[in-house]
Amino acid sequence: MEVRRTVPVALDVDSDDAALLEDTVDTFLWSAQYVVDHAFNGEYVTTSKTTLDDETYDDVRDATDDFNGGLVQAARNKAAEACKSVVARWKNGKKASKPTFTSPHVVYDKRTATFHEDYVSLATTDGRIEADYILPDEDSDTPHSEYLFSDQYETTGAELHYRDGDWMLHIHCKMEVEPETSAQAATENGTVLGVDLGVNNLAVTSTGTFWTGNEFNHWRRGYEKRRGSLQHCGTRWAHQNIQSVGRKEEGRFKLTLHRISNELVAEAREKGCSVIAFEDLTDIRERTGASWGHKWAFNRLYEYVEYKAEEHGITVEQVDPENTSRRCSHCGFTHPDNRDGEEFECLKCGYENHADYNAAKNIGLRYLRRNQTGGDGGALLGVRLNSGTLNVNGGYSPASAEARTGVHAESHRFSGG
Ligand SMILES: [Zn+2]
Repeated sequence: MEVRRTVPVALDVDSDDAALLEDTVDTFLWSAQYVVDHAFNGEYVTTSKTTLDDETYDDVRDATDDFNGGLVQAARNKAAEACKSVVARWKNGKKASKPTFTSPHVVYDKRTATFHEDYVSLATTDGRIEADYILPDEDSDTPHSEYLFSDQYETTGAELHYRDGDWMLHIHCKMEVEPETSAQAATENGTVLGVDLGVNNLAVTSTGTFWTGNEFNHWRRGYEKRRGSLQHCGTRWAHQNIQSVGRKEEGRFKLTLHRISNELVAEAREKGCSVIAFEDLTDIRERTGASWGHKWAFNRLYEYVEYKAEEHGITVEQVDPENTSRRCSHCGFTHPDNRDGEEFECLKCGYENHADYNAAKNIGLRYLRRNQTGGDGGALLGVRLNSGTLNVNGGYSPASAEARTGVHAESHRFSGG
């Protein structure tokens, strides 16, 4: 399995180089347009890259005073793709007209660009230029270090974009996911990690790991207070201050959520889970009384976990949240009085535990049931607890000896936060 990422990086370009890049953009777009015009010139639209290459390469090179061969080919590929999608629309009975290229950009690959640690070398209409990356502060929330400078990710190419006076490079990276941890292999005998989200505890897993919401709640209250007092001033200065406070606080929240998502994915990997199940986030505010800030945090957390889990072949899904907090994960008895705040005590079988932990197990079970009837074909073993699994009927099986790392199934392991 292959994981791909695109990392936007601003470039520091001086005026001489900027002129060269502008000329390169113009020439690239002209070349792509030339190929499209040629493709549309016959009885049928030509979409074959080889045919288009044979019929236009020399003409384009002549007309552009020997534009870089790699860039001519990239322009031709761009043109061929655009022609293909027009033909595909026609085949589906939809309207489409001849493509025109207006957005200023150039497509680079490994032959026309060289990606160094802190600068890039780019082919232009007149030799190469070098441009430094403008990287954000180290503690800011960006994926640069994670993908761009990671040994695991390979840089495959980039698109240069020009907008509002800024040169941006969208760098493409890819990573091959190890076959033994690929989704296919893991689904054969993997387990589900159920995750409950909430206000007191931001996240609780079916393996009994808790991430408390204290830190987040503290920040959010402080932020809302500062925002409130700034809004009170009502001046333009105050407005700008609100925005800068907002950006700074948001960055801090995101860093915390990145950390939690990393720990969550690590937990899933440690316990051999092939699926991480969350409750459906759509109406989570109505269900849990969470603030707008929490909803924002839950969405980010889900996004980050989904993104990071993909690299390890782990699927992330949302399940129907109905009654997951009222249902007994042990016997299935569902009643609003089973739950009293953070306490869960089943009125029928007497099962007692932390309410969020009980909910996390139910979320895992719901995925398990849905997956069995949905016919996805995966043979999941059960919901992963700290030292065993819960099968679809609520029965508990201890983990195999080598996988048994925890103390006992129902113990709470508090971490994070
Ligand atoms: Zn019960």
